[in-house]
Amino acid sequence: MDFKNLLNRIYAEIKSSKWEDGNLPDYIPELKHINPDKFGMSLITLDGKNYGVGDFQEKFSLQSIAKVFAFTLVYKDLGGKVFERVGVEPSGNPFNSLIQLEQERGFPRNPLINAGALVVCDMIIENFDTPEKTLFDFIRKIARNSSIDYNSSVYQSEKNAGHRNRAMIHLMKSFGTIKNDTDKVLDLYFKLCSLEMNTEELSQTFLLYANEGKIYGSDERILTKSQTKRTNAIMQTCGFYDEAGEFTFRVGLPGKSGVGGGIAAVHPGKYAVATWSPLLNKKGNSVAGMKALELLTTKSGWSVF
Ligand code: GLU
Repeated sequence: MDFKNLLNRIYAEIKSSKWEDGNLPDYIPELKHINPDKFGMSLITLDGKNYGVGDFQEKFSLQSIAKVFAFTLVYKDLGGKVFERVGVEPSGNPFNSLIQLEQERGFPRNPLINAGALVVCDMIIENFDTPEKTLFDFIRKIARNSSIDYNSSVYQSEKNAGHRNRAMIHLMKSFGTIKNDTDKVLDLYFKLCSLEMNTEELSQTFLLYANEGKIYGSDERILTKSQTKRTNAIMQTCGFYDEAGEFTFRVGLPGKSGVGGGIAAVHPGKYAVATWSPLLNKKGNSVAGMKALELLTTKSGWSVF
């Protein structure tokens, strides 16, 4: 597959389109100041080829994409016991919805919505002596990059403005599904969401999920083959808020989006890909990112379906 040519064609098509229906997220003040014209895309194959176009070396806020890494850490450590605390069903609701959580007595539908990621952070605090260090060292390890970190201005901004996440964690605490101090859990969650990478670093990290659970380049196993299949299945069904069906329909790859405008996806056994473009549709997914990935699987004729 000539990915170099393909990415150049996608870049040209994205750059010549107008994305009038997209918006920047306004509920995290720090994310409102990003240049909406940014677009970057990277693709790295399991046979070692690395392609990038546009702003692929500029860091952006991973937001919900980082939830996949926190889930991977607890899944590696606790195995199937994780699912005693969080489900594997798509929510069909916005990522920060409180209604379903109340109806389902504080048991989150899946680890990739906010409530589920808060429970995952609670499990990290419960299971590790130095939770923050363990989480970030783990992410640096699977990224094979010791410079990966969170952005402290975004973290502060989320902390100041995170009213809905506060409401959610207190609701769960009232049902007994959060074991630790709610401020401690929120703090870890806000730091996780403020993680920064560029699309090249993000696709490098996501190669883990294309590579049967082994860190690409070191071949150290993090997840078993079966756990990797399941993690990809959760991304496929739950990775795009209440638009997971639309992403599956248009793109046909497991992946995860974030309100920072990023999307990461994998074709197991072949490649990992990441896009970044800040303008979001009404469901919170990057408009240009979804289009670029749709073009990738349509033009290449490769998807998991
Ligand atoms: N930090 C964001 C929040 O908690 C993450 C949202 C997202 O990217 O889906 O609302």
